[in-house]
Amino acid sequence: MNLVLMGLPGAGKGTQAGLLEEKYEIPHVSTGDMFRAAIKNETELGKEAKSYMDEGELVPDEVTIGIVRERLKKPDCQGGFILDGFPRTVEQAEALDEILENQESSLDLVISMVLPEDELMKRLTGRRVCPECGENYHTEYSPPEKEGVCDRCGAELIQRSDDREDTVKRRLEVNREKIKNLQDYYQDRDLLVEFDASGDVEEVHGRFVELLEDSL
Ligand SMILES: [Zn+2]
Repeated sequence: MNLVLMGLPGAGKGTQAGLLEEKYEIPHVSTGDMFRAAIKNETELGKEAKSYMDEGELVPDEVTIGIVRERLKKPDCQGGFILDGFPRTVEQAEALDEILENQESSLDLVISMVLPEDELMKRLTGRRVCPECGENYHTEYSPPEKEGVCDRCGAELIQRSDDREDTVKRRLEVNREKIKNLQDYYQDRDLLVEFDASGDVEEVHGRFVELLEDSL
């Protein structure tokens, strides 16, 4: 089962991909995690990616595509995978098709996780993080015992600048356009399923499993 999960930031892609990985024992392939691993293992691509990140620049498409290509060649991906964070653009989607074609494989399903705007805003702007130990919280879904204070180390929690309302609005705006193009791409190939991502984590996971068992 070769899956792509797509959706706006805050839709819960990473969380749901993690649960599907456990349930179906196929790897959750996240570009964010892959970058960190490639950099840690000091692969050629990792070194290249790091040189852009150190300069505060976006990693170019060909580097991202190279990292995905390396990852999907690994034996654990031969029985299936769940891609999260890739592809983000039509160019990347075309590259993914080519990578899979070279492996005599193809995608089975692209699931677009959809949430109402106000729910996305609530999920994203409620995030808090501990600047000392890195623990994550959410004012509504996983609040600390004492408001604004880290349970683990007692430091004062902060809101990352990325999660402030005006920044979130801009991030959603930029992403919405890209996602629309990707949706069209996969719609044309009859691979796209729109999935209602509202509700709590377990409930959404249950509906995910139903969808997969119906579709595959
Ligand atoms: Zn802490």
